[in-house]
Amino acid sequence: MSANLIGGEWRGSASGRVRDRHNPADTRQLVATAPDSTAADVDAAVSAVADGHVEWSRTSPQRRAEVLDTAAALLERDQEKLAAELVAEEGKTLAEATMEVRRTPANLRFYAGEALRATGSTYPSESGLVYTARSAVGVVAAITPWNFPLNIPSRKLGPALACGNGVVYKPSEVTPLLATRLVEALLEAGVPAGALALVHGGAEVGAALARDRRVAAVTFTGSTAAGNSIHGAVGASRRCQLEMGGKNPVVVLPDADLDRAAAIVVRGAFGLSGQACTGTSRVIAADTVHDELLARVVRRAEALRLGEGLADGVEMGPLATAQQLAKTAEYVRIGLAEGAVLRTGGQAPDGARYEHGHFFLPTVFSEVAAGSRLAREEIFGPVLAFLRAGSFDEAVRLANDSDYGLSAAVVTPDLGAALDFADRVRAGLVKVNQPTTGMAMNAPFGGLKESSTQTFKEQAGETMSRFYTVEKTVYVAS
Ligand code: NAD
Repeated sequence: MSANLIGGEWRGSASGRVRDRHNPADTRQLVATAPDSTAADVDAAVSAVADGHVEWSRTSPQRRAEVLDTAAALLERDQEKLAAELVAEEGKTLAEATMEVRRTPANLRFYAGEALRATGSTYPSESGLVYTARSAVGVVAAITPWNFPLNIPSRKLGPALACGNGVVYKPSEVTPLLATRLVEALLEAGVPAGALALVHGGAEVGAALARDRRVAAVTFTGSTAAGNSIHGAVGASRRCQLEMGGKNPVVVLPDADLDRAAAIVVRGAFGLSGQACTGTSRVIAADTVHDELLARVVRRAEALRLGEGLADGVEMGPLATAQQLAKTAEYVRIGLAEGAVLRTGGQAPDGARYEHGHFFLPTVFSEVAAGSRLAREEIFGPVLAFLRAGSFDEAVRLANDSDYGLSAAVVTPDLGAALDFADRVRAGLVKVNQPTTGMAMNAPFGGLKESSTQTFKEQAGETMSRFYTVEKTVYVAS
């Protein structure tokens, strides 16, 4: 049983309500039960952190860094257990879960250093000393999705705590167990009870947090619809960082090595069962290579081994929830109704081992019209849409023909064309001869257009820790 953490006390929701979480590979298996909290629990959590985090803000930066380092060591100690729990709760394969379980402590170590990097500047002045100083923002709300239930929160809680903030953490209702594990490690490492609260529950909890004026900054990762609603509630005078949806293209140019291109597409499209924000959902193939590339992608997609993430040789797990499964199946119906051609997949796999899970075959459509819903809307499942481009200019135009702008890739040996693409594509991440998914932990992350608020990058870079600090300009006369 997972619980809320408020004022250092593990407790249920004031409403007494709970939600069960079952293994998406076998829904007969209960993985976690967590409070289904309400606005009253949010109120208690924000009160506790508003009062309680001051001690943490005043803790020396060295000590804050040490605490995050210790939390990283605790997560590393429990790596195998955490990976197995991540498979059971979210549905990843063991290889995918292991990558996340390794990345999370590395993130915390990276952000530990931020405590010591909150520097300011001095300004030449005729009237004494003028300098800027940075300090904690105050209470930060972190609202996160289920697809990286350790990694994404660590990218928010890590820098927030390093900079001396208090955090109210609202994880996805889909992954309460892993959320609890991260909080347990931070507490055991020495984050004071007053500096961190955990409130489980659904959209109601996130919305109440965003509305609460005592929350100085909201950092959110999730869908564009939820992000827009949060943005409205936060208003103009408080900080808001939103990383949202995507509809990420891979452009394959006529000179591409097609085996390499097919591998890049399949990894980006079907890794995490298509449930990565940076996942590939569109392939824009040069006319001359379109048919051959499509054939190779279909062959690779059909060879992927589906199954429960801990089973030997499994390369693609289930979808995380029944809603994800239903949404994916709905987009297959939409694609067919729009006249796209289904090349493979389009349904759940047959067989007893899939009977109790949310499995769906890797699905590829071709002849997808640029203006169609299949080409434009985020599906967040293993559904790939092929489009044709008659020229480089048309490929760039199609890549940019989207409300989203998160990640985009180009496959070509021509460095000039690749750099031209990087220059012209409207996406926050551009990959050359790499999948749209996957990124360095020490590089700035964030989308453009409706994929992000765009004001502060996440993960790394100059603006990452700026989000978690306020800056004052101080004038001193002797
Ligand atoms: P979601 O938007 O449904 O939920 C995300 C979080 O917000 C959850 O904790 C949820 O309870 C909460 N929430 C939902 N509606 C809310 C509201 N109206 N007010 C306040 N909080 C609310 O997203 P999800 O299904 O958990 O995750 C999938 C989505 O996340 C996809 O759109 C995906 O692209 C996106 N995502 C983006 C990134 C990125 O970095 N850009 C990374 C991972 C996932």
